[in-house]
Amino acid sequence: MNEPSGATEMAHAEPKYSRVHRAAEIVSIFIFVVYAVANLWRLFATAIPTGPSAWFVLGGGAFLGYVLADFISGTVHWLADRYGSRDLFLLGPNFIGPFRDHHVRPKEITQHDFVETNGNNCMISFWVLMVVYHGVPLAVGDLTSLFLAGALVFSMMAIMATNQFHKWAHSDSAPRLVRLLQRWHAILPADHHDVHHKAPFETYFCITTGWLNWPLRKLRFYESVEWLVYRLTGIRAGEDDAINAGLAPARASEAESGVVTLPSTGAAERAS
Ligand SMILES: [Zn+2]
Ligand SMILES: [Zn+2]
Repeated sequence: MNEPSGATEMAHAEPKYSRVHRAAEIVSIFIFVVYAVANLWRLFATAIPTGPSAWFVLGGGAFLGYVLADFISGTVHWLADRYGSRDLFLLGPNFIGPFRDHHVRPKEITQHDFVETNGNNCMISFWVLMVVYHGVPLAVGDLTSLFLAGALVFSMMAIMATNQFHKWAHSDSAPRLVRLLQRWHAILPADHHDVHHKAPFETYFCITTGWLNWPLRKLRFYESVEWLVYRLTGIRAGEDDAINAGLAPARASEAESGVVTLPSTGAAERAS
């Protein structure tokens, strides 16, 4: 993975965010683990007496969940990269900013420890696990519920792992087993993710496995949604591309002069 600033992979740095946020991340990871184990226990406890068909159905649900996680990761990433700005209330500094900073300093993610890497994803996904555990009834022989609950539980577990997979895709020293999983394309491979890390950062958004990147690009899926959003609301995707392309420092002088120069992007050309 190229690092434009020339920075190298370093040992875990001190987190650069508030203690309150870190405490919330630690609590979220704990709740996530508790509900993940509880859900898996419930799924297996339902599947065992149901018989072999249940394991087949549960396997199908798990696979669907894994694919679904890739789509969710791509869609969340696409939203953060293509809409809004880092000045946006609440979402800007906590959601949009980190995604765009990652384009400027892609190796920085490798300095994040376990909590910083996985806390934010747990903060969102544990809610789904909680709802599945308390809200989706499972009964022996009910294969439909088993499939749905399995898909949701495994998709959230894959969402939880997504930032770890993403971090490994940027790492120069990932464990050998991880390298093997990347080579098999079971998790996001580094060279595959490199496609996203080229300005204007408008393709290959999926970062769990990357399986959906090629079909979504062929279908022009996100381009079509951006076109639809523009037709319906007048909001253009990638308007904040100056930041996307790592030109954030130029913004102050641009604001003073009233002239904003966007890099040449496919989005700008489409929108024009
Ligand atoms: Zn991105
Ligand atoms: Zn990346």
